[in-house]
Amino acid sequence: MRVASRHPFPHPSIRRLPLYLRFLKQLRDAGSQKISCTRIARELDLDSTQVRKDLALTGIVGRPRIGYVLTDLVQAIEKFLGWDQRALAFLAGVGNLGRAIIGYEDFRRCGLDIVAAFDIDAGKIGGEVFGRRVYHPAEMPALTPKLGVSVGVITVPAVAAQEVADVMVKSGISGIWNFSPIRLELPPRVRVENALLTSSLAVLSVDLKRESPEAAPPFQRPPARRSR
Ligand code: NAD
Repeated sequence: MRVASRHPFPHPSIRRLPLYLRFLKQLRDAGSQKISCTRIARELDLDSTQVRKDLALTGIVGRPRIGYVLTDLVQAIEKFLGWDQRALAFLAGVGNLGRAIIGYEDFRRCGLDIVAAFDIDAGKIGGEVFGRRVYHPAEMPALTPKLGVSVGVITVPAVAAQEVADVMVKSGISGIWNFSPIRLELPPRVRVENALLTSSLAVLSVDLKRESPEAAPPFQRPPARRSR
């Protein structure tokens, strides 16, 4: 994964690219060689003009009546996303979420290689999580240039997130994937992406509410009262 400089690409389009990539790789692995925009749109339930625009971001243009050569398209998307390269990352906060992220080996296929972790819990320092050594954050400034790490993943409690981000900045990290619910204050040279599951849940909640405006989503419904 490459940490991109400030870019003009629309984020919704970028967010759809991994969806295309997954689908296209499945087709390629099943032996298909060509694909049209219309088919991608149909299979993924999207608008074909939108799909064409999204794919054009990668610099690849489909040919009329032929579409795209699958291997070229997969390559172009991976290159555009920077997933054809490897970015080394540190993760801070080896709790429930941190462990799950370190253990999810598929991020490697997206070019993100978490090489070590950091925690202030004495019981975790010096140990290993999914083969990655856990250090105290005080060791980060020395380890970052030594290992050539460019990305920091933050999975510490909200109260500790800014402090951890400051250590990452001081260490020379250039991109932060922030899972804490706070807005980090960072110098302009450092890119941040806030990953919030609650934002995704909000979309589902509103969709459910729209489908059945009378009923709140089940997880918000107050317990039923018994009438006597
Ligand atoms: P957790 O309590 O299980 O783990 C937090 C870990 O951070 C602990 O191991 C703790 O020792 C460590 N820690 C605390 N202060 C630290 C510091 N200064 N430096 C390094 N390590 C430190 O918490 P969790 O449930 O894994 O949640 C972690 C964070 O992720 C929270 O901010 C939570 O709100 C957030 N979260 C985000 C999402 C999301 O969708 N983005 C989902 C779940 C949780």
